[in-house]
Amino acid sequence: NQIWYLRKRPVGKLADGDLELVTEEMAPLGPDMIRVRTIYLSLDPTNRIWMSDMDGYLPPVPIDNPMRGGGIGIVEESNFDDVPVGTLINTGLSTWAMYNDIPGGMASVLPSIPGVPLTAYMGPLGATGMTAYFGLMDIGKPKEGDTLVVSAAAGAVGSMVGQIGKIHGCHVVGIAGSDDKCKWLTEEAGFDAAINYKTEDVGAALDKRCPNGIDINFESVGGEIMDVVIARLNDFSRMPLCGLISTYNDTDGSPGPTNFANLLMRRTTLRGFIILDYFDRFPEGAQAMAGWLMEGRIKFETDVVQGIENAPASLERLFTGANLGKLAVQFGPE
Ligand code: NDP
Repeated sequence: NQIWYLRKRPVGKLADGDLELVTEEMAPLGPDMIRVRTIYLSLDPTNRIWMSDMDGYLPPVPIDNPMRGGGIGIVEESNFDDVPVGTLINTGLSTWAMYNDIPGGMASVLPSIPGVPLTAYMGPLGATGMTAYFGLMDIGKPKEGDTLVVSAAAGAVGSMVGQIGKIHGCHVVGIAGSDDKCKWLTEEAGFDAAINYKTEDVGAALDKRCPNGIDINFESVGGEIMDVVIARLNDFSRMPLCGLISTYNDTDGSPGPTNFANLLMRRTTLRGFIILDYFDRFPEGAQAMAGWLMEGRIKFETDVVQGIENAPASLERLFTGANLGKLAVQFGPE
């Protein structure tokens, strides 16, 4: 087997030597277990949180342990009759390894939907799609005519949020880090407008693109972008707090919004959420997303890097913004 071990807590950006790829013999497969070969490893901003010792929603990965992560795999050996060899599964919270042994009873078997590529099970039909769906529907509560602003808009979660918002009749404005991403958002994903935060004055652009103020801020970034959005929230606005990616590499604490008082004045409902809490409701979210996908109302992109050896270096794509859509590393053939 090949397994990425966490050797050091990264300081700032992930560096060479923080993780180490180790080749190991595998013990014989235990009773009721399945041996799953990783096809795709999903890379997520939260991987960086798990490497640090911050007080997160899951314990940090202990030093000298395999790195936590999951994706899509195929069963290559099985001691559990209900999950035979050849079954495709979501490997959930397993490890950055070529093979993971998983209790057969806990396997999350992927449905087979004709015409839907496997990568969709990390995107619209996977955890990032569910994050978009439940964060927007449960906390954002979109209504016809609402103005919805989405940060990290061309990423896995953001691209889904905006499209679900459009389906619910919102005026959707995305914020992203390149002209190509902005073009994709308006021309492919159907956003009403997109703002390139690297070249535009985001406040002035929001004033132009959101003439009626902002009813929903789906927040994934934090920092200055969050401040300029908060400054433009309407009365009784909603703010699903999904992520704060601009702060995950910080070494010395991360400031909150500088205009916190505006959340009081505007009577904003702000709620942080973690998608794991919605696990029991995934069938509901997946059914909705699958329906829209089949109807062609949801577009998605995947950014796939080849080779297990490139997993740690590829994580950086999320922080430089190199990825359009869901980032994954392909370890082997489908
Ligand atoms: P994405 O596919 O959106 O990739 C991350 C994107 O963030 C990059 O492409 C980049 O795009 C943008 N970004 C990175 N650094 C900055 C920065 N300093 N300022 C502005 N934008 C930045 O990742 P995901 O869709 O997987 O995750 C998006 C967010 O959702 C993250 O905050 C993540 O932690 C959160 N999340 C939360 C979950 C939950 O349960 N609460 C579950 C899943 C994700 P650009 O080119 O636009 O800069």
